[in-house]
Amino acid sequence: VFSRSVGGLAVAEREQASPPKVKLLIGGEYVDSQAVEWIDVINPATQEVISKLPLATSHEFEAAVKAAKEAFPKWRSTPVTARQRIMLKLQELIRRDMDKLAANITTEQGKTLADARGDVFRGLEVVEQACGMANAQMGEFVENVSSGIDTYSIRQPLGVCAGICPFNFPAMIPLWMFPMAVTCGNTFILKPSEKDPGAAMMLAELAAEAGLPAGVLNIVHGTHDVVNRICDDPDIKAVSFVGSDAAGMHIYARASQTGKRVQCNMGAKNHGVVLPDAAFESTVNALVGAAFGAAGQRCMALSTVVFVGDSHRWEEALKQKAEALKVTVGTEPGADVGPVISKQAKERVCNLVESGVQAGARLVLDGRNVRVPGYEHGNFVGPTILSDVTPDMECYKQEIFGPVLLCMKAGSLDEAIQIVNNNKYGNGTAIFTQSGAAARLFQHEIDVGQVGINVPIPVPLPFFSFTGWRGSFAGDLNFYGKAGLKKVELVAIGCGLLYTSMTSVCLPGQKFGP
Ligand code: NAD
Repeated sequence: VFSRSVGGLAVAEREQASPPKVKLLIGGEYVDSQAVEWIDVINPATQEVISKLPLATSHEFEAAVKAAKEAFPKWRSTPVTARQRIMLKLQELIRRDMDKLAANITTEQGKTLADARGDVFRGLEVVEQACGMANAQMGEFVENVSSGIDTYSIRQPLGVCAGICPFNFPAMIPLWMFPMAVTCGNTFILKPSEKDPGAAMMLAELAAEAGLPAGVLNIVHGTHDVVNRICDDPDIKAVSFVGSDAAGMHIYARASQTGKRVQCNMGAKNHGVVLPDAAFESTVNALVGAAFGAAGQRCMALSTVVFVGDSHRWEEALKQKAEALKVTVGTEPGADVGPVISKQAKERVCNLVESGVQAGARLVLDGRNVRVPGYEHGNFVGPTILSDVTPDMECYKQEIFGPVLLCMKAGSLDEAIQIVNNNKYGNGTAIFTQSGAAARLFQHEIDVGQVGINVPIPVPLPFFSFTGWRGSFAGDLNFYGKAGLKKVELVAIGCGLLYTSMTSVCLPGQKFGP
């Protein structure tokens, strides 16, 4: 795992007993940080220190921005076809190293190997999308807007862009960010999560192997300080953030002050609404997978279910399925639920469950004291189900971000829709029903960006955009898809007389081009 998990480590360093130090990537060089402060990257299943991550100094941060700025003129002039071809190679290399990437993710983040492969795969789809950049970057042209005057718009890159990542998808989120930006012609500063930087480092190595020139993608590490530097730096033109509300709102306000384009994907509380006519077996399976998969550490996890009508038979079936899930280290065959990211995260999840119990919720299934033989020090929480939850409870108001499913009741579909719409978040939701009319009404009335109909986690593929709403998003241009592309490019308007025809004619028998 180590051999490729922390980019650019010297072989001798890998063989040392002490944990390796994660390097910075500046201008194509893997740099030993001169940081005074370092953070332990910890395996959440074992507490083993995997590596040490530097809090990059201001000098190192400035060097990364300088490298990105210097690389920009040549990179933006590189033909779009050449930039696309690098992405085409990158997707091939990601496929080649899928298992290595997944193994690293399981070690640093904790999710099962199957979930880790999914993490890489969902990011890979964005790389595939970036391979068609030339089509996406086509401009517009109108002839004769006035007599003899034509107007056209050209889509151009912005300059240096930056991305700030959360811990829960260490491959997918960096891949949401840099492939679209760089294929457009921008250069990039990536700040991976300080909790699991390994996958981002491996992806940067693969991007270099695919032919991405030095300085186009740079990586800095750290927490608040380096994030604030990203927000404040006048040479950075756009910032993408994915993470918690507190950090997201801070970054949105601070980076906007320096005139940057900012997009912030934040927290969530996704509701599944179950009508009495829902197909029983498939709905129970969908709810269990969406609530407890990846230990509930997904921004699109279905963490709350609202039953319209009687809930007893549903809760019993959910309990049976959930308690049969295998809670263990993610590398174990048949593992369903891995650990949560840290001891603090486990404590927070358990405290929120307890607060629900104290407020009158009923514990249908309690996973707080789960024991995993051989991994007693891991941050494991077993599947937990709380019933009779009401909107005033703290466990409902806050995002739990663990394997906990809250159950609520509603007397009608309208009441269920009200519950969902009154929640401050609007990332995703799903309805389970066999009624087309009910599904249509739900989809129309629900104030949430991504809606599933009998689909538990409706995450759009990258030709659409990831469209969280309300408290789950700040900004106006969403990630990937057409909106994502607009975020990382200017539209330059040209207006004037054109003396050359843009029509290329190839006569029969002639060869067109070299
Ligand atoms: P986090 O906010 O703690 O960290 C995210 C990034 O922000 C990290 O790189 C971190 O170093 C930095 N950061 C944290 N606090 C900061 C602060 N006060 N000032 C400046 N920078 C700060 O989030 P996390 O715990 O890594 O990720 C989990 C959260 O991410 C959950 O809330 C989850 O819902 C959300 N998330 C949302 C989406 C989405 O698309 N909506 C996707 C994945 C995760």
